Amino acid sequence: MRTPVVAGNWKMHGTVEEARHRVWDMLQPLQELSGVERVICPPFTALLAVANMLMGTDIRLGAQNMHWATEGAFTGEISPRMVAEFAQYVIVGHSERRKFFGETDETVRKKVRAALDHDLTPIICVGETIGERETGLTDRVVHQQVLTALADCSPEEASRVIIAYEPVWAIGTGLTPTPEEANRVHREVIRATLAARFGEATARQVRVLYGGSVKPHNAPGFFAQPDIDGALVGGASLDPQAFVAIVRAAAEAKGTK
Ligand code: PEP
Repeated sequence: MRTPVVAGNWKMHGTVEEARHRVWDMLQPLQELSGVERVICPPFTALLAVANMLMGTDIRLGAQNMHWATEGAFTGEISPRMVAEFAQYVIVGHSERRKFFGETDETVRKKVRAALDHDLTPIICVGETIGERETGLTDRVVHQQVLTALADCSPEEASRVIIAYEPVWAIGTGLTPTPEEANRVHREVIRATLAARFGEATARQVRVLYGGSVKPHNAPGFFAQPDIDGALVGGASLDPQAFVAIVRAAAEAKGTK
């Protein structure tokens, strides 16, 4: 059985003090939901403070991005070696990085390789834009994103990554595909791509999350789907009660509670 994962992407929100308050408000109830892998991804500036608060718990820490080089003349960037000082996970290829900061499938590939080299679990974001959806390109786009992201991986390495299917048009909009539609992409595109490239065993092992306007009211529907192993949560992860409710929904749907 695949352990469900719920990761909270705080994006560019909050000071260190605000991060401490938010973690404080969710820490106790999150600790009671240990059947779900719970990952908090605050901004870089809050990583150290949150790492200190999570010490001694089994709640994990993730960064929202990183460069692929270990060090060098890359002003303003953060390297995998730096991220690995605090975090165990890193979000790679989020659509906001692709849209606003020129991230491509190729840079995602380099970052996935770098993450694995530094014992970080990459949470690899894939998903189609509204234009791609409307022109019937969803499957082709997602297939290519998965294939390129994992181009440098062995089957064993591929089995350790997490893939988040995040339709771009669903992020922060309140719109979502139906759970059945999302599950179809997970099974017929993402797992099928993994199976063709790495074999059935790897395809069965990889955790595939859904992301895009996941809230407490719609989370149970997504988690009821057999190929949806959890969620990458943006806006709702800023609200401790909502984030805990989503983690609880994952625990209940996947029978870990
Ligand atoms: C995200 O940032 O990855 C995300 C899914 O955001 P939201 O939940 O706000 O749509």
